[in-house]
Amino acid sequence: MISYTDFSLGLAVAAFLVCISDVIFTVIDKRTEKPQNKVYIFMLLLLSVNAGCGITSYIAEKSKMISDTAFDTLQISRYIYFLTHALLAPIFFFYISFVVGRSINWRTSRAKLRKAKHYIIDVGVTLALVVMEFMIIVNPVFHWMWYFDEQRNFQRASGEMFIYIQSALWLGASFVLVMHSWNILSKNRKDSLAVCYVLVITGIMIQLFYSHIYIEVLMEALGFTGVLFFVENEDDRKNVELDVYNPASFSLDISAILKNQIPTRLLLVRDIKFDRTANPTLMGKISGDAIQKSVVEYLATKVKRYHIYALGHRIFALTIYDNSDEFAVKTAQEISDRFYKPWEINGNSIFLKASVMMIALPERAKTVADIIYMAECPIPEKFRKKVMYGDDLNWIIRYSAVESAVTRGLKEGSFEVYYQPTYYIDKALYGAEALLRMHDSELGNIYPDEFIPIAEKIGIIDEIDDFVLREVCRLLSTGVPQKYGIGHINVNLSVMECMKDGFAEHITKVVDAFEVEKHNISFEITESVASNDYRHLEEVIEKLKTVGFMFYIDDFGTGYSNIHALFSLGADVIKIDKSVLWGAEQSELGMSLLKSTIEMVKDMHKKTLAEGVETETQIQTLKNLGCDYLQGYYFSKPVPESEFLKIINTSSEVSTH
Ligand code: C2E
Ligand code: CA
Ligand code: CA
Repeated sequence: MISYTDFSLGLAVAAFLVCISDVIFTVIDKRTEKPQNKVYIFMLLLLSVNAGCGITSYIAEKSKMISDTAFDTLQISRYIYFLTHALLAPIFFFYISFVVGRSINWRTSRAKLRKAKHYIIDVGVTLALVVMEFMIIVNPVFHWMWYFDEQRNFQRASGEMFIYIQSALWLGASFVLVMHSWNILSKNRKDSLAVCYVLVITGIMIQLFYSHIYIEVLMEALGFTGVLFFVENEDDRKNVELDVYNPASFSLDISAILKNQIPTRLLLVRDIKFDRTANPTLMGKISGDAIQKSVVEYLATKVKRYHIYALGHRIFALTIYDNSDEFAVKTAQEISDRFYKPWEINGNSIFLKASVMMIALPERAKTVADIIYMAECPIPEKFRKKVMYGDDLNWIIRYSAVESAVTRGLKEGSFEVYYQPTYYIDKALYGAEALLRMHDSELGNIYPDEFIPIAEKIGIIDEIDDFVLREVCRLLSTGVPQKYGIGHINVNLSVMECMKDGFAEHITKVVDAFEVEKHNISFEITESVASNDYRHLEEVIEKLKTVGFMFYIDDFGTGYSNIHALFSLGADVIKIDKSVLWGAEQSELGMSLLKSTIEMVKDMHKKTLAEGVETETQIQTLKNLGCDYLQGYYFSKPVPESEFLKIINTSSEVSTH
């Protein structure tokens, strides 16, 4: 029959083997870098020592009565066992605090959490630990924890309870941490931690009541094995190809940072792009994967690899656990500078572009969604900087506020169409341009330069353009503008919209519903955006022209495909951008540009409209150059419909056309 001693020896051997396998596994898998990994390995080593002590105790147990050496071995094994095992629960607590992101880095651990109260707790628990270890150390003299009786049998002393109570408290505290962070743990982590707690507590309970069954260490070793596979092993948290963390783990880790208020500096390296102008011959030859890999390898020289996250399309986030900006800004600067040098990718030397943002957490973001927003929202040209941080990022707050305003705008009726009259060169009324305004209940007046790009981004520009068109149709259907000689009301179109299937048919349907003459409506498009698919745009314009609408090319003189647009798009009128008019007053070159533009348009038998007319001198210049129509503050700013009707009412009296 197997004795209890043999049985327990078997359990001790099993525990030892499990621990050692876990250590070997961890080391082979090279999971030793993070502080969390180090604490884990330390726990396993402690546990291996405990199991080793178990083995020697049970071997020595058999011959303790006949051999003094065996008895000494037994006593020493017990001694080492107590010394080390008493430390396990507190270390487990620290391990858990790493897992739930409570102390992410040794350096800044709890840096911000520290309050006087915490110091008292820290001193208290440290003192209790020291006293406990001291009681164990002096046990051979005082026998407070355990002793061996006359028959050399192990006996518990009342002091041992002190170890159990402390361990229970540490374990309980770690459990509270887990519960507190329940929502920010992945399912695997939750499951394996739950199993670990059940195993450990069962082990402790069994051994508490049946001290001769050496099961506690084995149960702990099994619990830690679960942890090895589902907490230490991070395959589910990784982007395997790039060997950095994935968006899911970013979201969990950042939640932990925000929840625990861990001071962190987050670097976002975003909009990583192939620089087309710098590498014209390599276009399309370098894969996106190769680019991402090179960038990751570089970033890994700046921060530890386990602080890098790949967030979707060529956006990387780097966490720096620090409560001051200095180091993070310096690193951000270095990363940004790196993009001014070529990258060696697949034997080619190529140039990449990127923007770098530095976000101080938890101050600058309340939720993970805020950060994702910052990582993804397009950066308006005028706010673009090499490295953006602190107040440089204020525009994002405004941007997202405007985005919400635009989103609720159509429902709340915040949009209003203003009209800016246009004139013949002799100052007689010609028509008007419909320009959108937005009056938001929270943000006040917002101008189209700010809200139109946002409406395009969130995909409601079609509804907005539709709204303008309907408003214009409604006004025209009253017949009032026509009565005062307004032959043309211009509506701006987003080129992105024009390219959509069925666009021309849709426009025609809307206008027909109001029974408005189509020649009363003209559309303005900005050609520079349209250059990608000219043919298609030409077709749309042709269709709309056939049914009677007129077409204007807007902002002529700003884009680089101007001339092309002039030749290929069947526009009736070319709107010369205000910068061209204003440039003519600044230099001779500007003047000849304005002059040649007007001449060129004339040669093509099209008309010109100059916008941004503010002075009488400009009108004289334009008249001399042969410009056809005028628009600008000289006559009127864009005004609400009622005011517009007043203006045309008075102007029409002088009209000769
Ligand atoms: P745009 O089509 O080039 O419109 C002309 C802009 O120049 C208007 O700005 C107008 O107020 C301004 N402007 C006109 N005359 C003068 C002048 O003498 N001096 C100065 N300094 N400015 C003058 P606004 O209304 O802020 O519109 C800005 C842009 O937003 C427009 O440029 C247009 O591209 C876009 N936009 C406006 N309304 C709509 C719309 O309903 N749909 C679409 N898709 N875009 C719109
Ligand atoms: Ca326009
Ligand atoms: Ca314009």
